[in-house]
Amino acid sequence: MLLMIPGPIEVSPAVCESFCRPPPSHLSVDVIDAHARSLELMRAVWRADDSSQPFVVPGSGTIAMEMAVANLLDATDVALVVNTGYFSDRIAEMARRRGASVEEVTAEPGEVPTLDAIESAAKRQSPDVVFATHVDTSTGVKVEPRAICELAARHGALSVFDGVCATAAERFDMDDWGADVYLTASQKAIGLPVGLGMMVVSEAALLRRKDLRTPVPMALDWEQWLPIMQAYEDRRPSYFSTPASNLLCALPIALQEILADGVEARWALHERKAAVMREVWRRLGLELLCDPSHAANTLSAVRYPDGVGPELVAAIRDRGVVVAGGLYPGLQGSYFRVGHMGYSVTRPDHLRRTAEAARDALVSLGHDRDATFDDLEF
Ligand code: PMP
Repeated sequence: MLLMIPGPIEVSPAVCESFCRPPPSHLSVDVIDAHARSLELMRAVWRADDSSQPFVVPGSGTIAMEMAVANLLDATDVALVVNTGYFSDRIAEMARRRGASVEEVTAEPGEVPTLDAIESAAKRQSPDVVFATHVDTSTGVKVEPRAICELAARHGALSVFDGVCATAAERFDMDDWGADVYLTASQKAIGLPVGLGMMVVSEAALLRRKDLRTPVPMALDWEQWLPIMQAYEDRRPSYFSTPASNLLCALPIALQEILADGVEARWALHERKAAVMREVWRRLGLELLCDPSHAANTLSAVRYPDGVGPELVAAIRDRGVVVAGGLYPGLQGSYFRVGHMGYSVTRPDHLRRTAEAARDALVSLGHDRDATFDDLEF
């Protein structure tokens, strides 16, 4: 089976080899070195400067989101959420549970809120923190983080981006754009299995944590984790909570693969392969859920054609490729999702097999387009 959902994804043989081993002690020289190198390499992948602080913690994307919310919001604060779907709803709810007052700027499914709408909400509410989902995995919509960073800075707010379905695949320049938190998880374009929450945090965001009055849950607290990260980066053993030692051994391998030709080349590769996959959907007579002008490069959210429904996902799986159903509440039954990120964009055979499985599955369900892909550079 070929795993082409928008995370977890297929991982490279070198990454697989590096975590498939008996569990090493988290205090072993190997793990300390892997952790230290990972923190250094994260700054390069995130395009963050030396004043920023990378964190790697056991967990998933949701833990990373919760960590950002818990360390940045007091119960008296205002959060502005640029809402593009399912995962923006989640971070808004987290902020509400923290006690903050939450203003959401929404758009129709598959659309992005306009900068004017975000600007007027910021004028009205004077937010302390602006949150946005770089790529919303439920709709395949991508926002423009740079403009949102500038807008947040103009209003004296910090900017936080959920990059779970974007980091290391979509352009993001943390230092140049002045973003304050860019968070992700290991199982998407980073190219590991599920198990690590990751983020890079600006100096300003760390300072804000120091000023919080509302207590931060201990396991999420940057103040607990900061000395641990600093110790690892200095190649000293340290303990607060047991790290995912197998995954840490694989993390520098995965990050080095991303950086092999430079992170810009990695973004460009994702862009090229996303364009090829969009051409596949076009030839099959299928439409994206969102306007191509703000479609993500990491996945395609594709509408079922007339007469075809979620049985398409099963028919594609019968042909050896796993894709995902829809996720946006209320629209789940009208589209499916295909991941094209990380290792699989370096594997033309993965993309071609996915295109052919989708075509053959559609034909088996009576949607006969008889498309050929021989001329496409997968
Ligand atoms: N944000 C986005 C954009 C996601 O795609 C996901 C996972 N699909 C999450 C957050 C939550 O991550 P996790 O499932 O690893 O907790």
